[in-house]
Amino acid sequence: TEIIEVKNLSKYYERKIALSSLSFSIKKGELIALIGPSGAGKTTLLNTFATIVKPDEGRLVIAGIPSEKLTNRKTLAKKIGIIRQQFDLVGQLPVIHNVLSGRLADWGLIKSLVSLIIPQEKQAALKALERVGLADKFMEQTSKLSGGEQQRVALARLLLQSPEIILADEPVASLDPARAEDILSMLTKLAQEENQTLITSLHSVEYARKYFTRIIAIKNGEVFFDLPAEKVSDLL
Ligand code: ADP
Ligand code: ADP
Repeated sequence: TEIIEVKNLSKYYERKIALSSLSFSIKKGELIALIGPSGAGKTTLLNTFATIVKPDEGRLVIAGIPSEKLTNRKTLAKKIGIIRQQFDLVGQLPVIHNVLSGRLADWGLIKSLVSLIIPQEKQAALKALERVGLADKFMEQTSKLSGGEQQRVALARLLLQSPEIILADEPVASLDPARAEDILSMLTKLAQEENQTLITSLHSVEYARKYFTRIIAIKNGEVFFDLPAEKVSDLL
């Protein structure tokens, strides 16, 4: 079943073309790496999937809903989860509050403070932290954790949000190679276990081949190639 349909999708900035009539579809459960040089259009494409950027032309259907109709925050949060290089965590708060905010469509931190006193909520957050190997740090101030650990907190938050689609924009760009592989293997494993669709932009073709099932290469806003990951090694 198709979870994302892209048909003749274009986006222009002034006179510059960021996305040039892209067409492809993505099936539920696929693990997709978007690769391509800087300025190719990867972030713009992910942002159109996130409904942050509005396409100028074409059709985009996400989990059966045309993207322009995905305006309700709660519906959107059920469909789409986002993970970024900068983690987007609140550093001053303990780890567990950042994790709990994944359950809340409006990211209400006051709500996360309140929900911590609900035993089931706390249990769910601790379980998610256990799955990313951070249960023992649940009350630590988030900013005191290392970069790799903070990205794992973001993964635990994503587990609680439990969206159908995960969009990750360069999720490991700020991490050293060992931490980057640790996060990518965890991210792809969790997505597979939850039968989620994962779309990640990446710099490294090596990581794309190692952890993903399909590689879409973008160049000048167009699809340069779109292949099963195991076929890409033959080309490069
Ligand atoms: P990538 O993520 O592959 O590096 P981007 O999607 O960020 O590529 O950028 C694609 C093109 O669109 C680039 O030429 C970039 O300069 C341009 N672009 C992206 N965002 C904006 C913006 N907000 N305003 C103007 N141009 C933009
Ligand atoms: P990771 O494997 O997650 O990248 P590191 O090897 O970088 O972790 O860090 C090891 C330990 O040092 C972690 O338990 C982390 O809490 C701590 N640590 C790392 N960076 C900082 C920091 N900036 N402030 C406080 N503690 C830190």
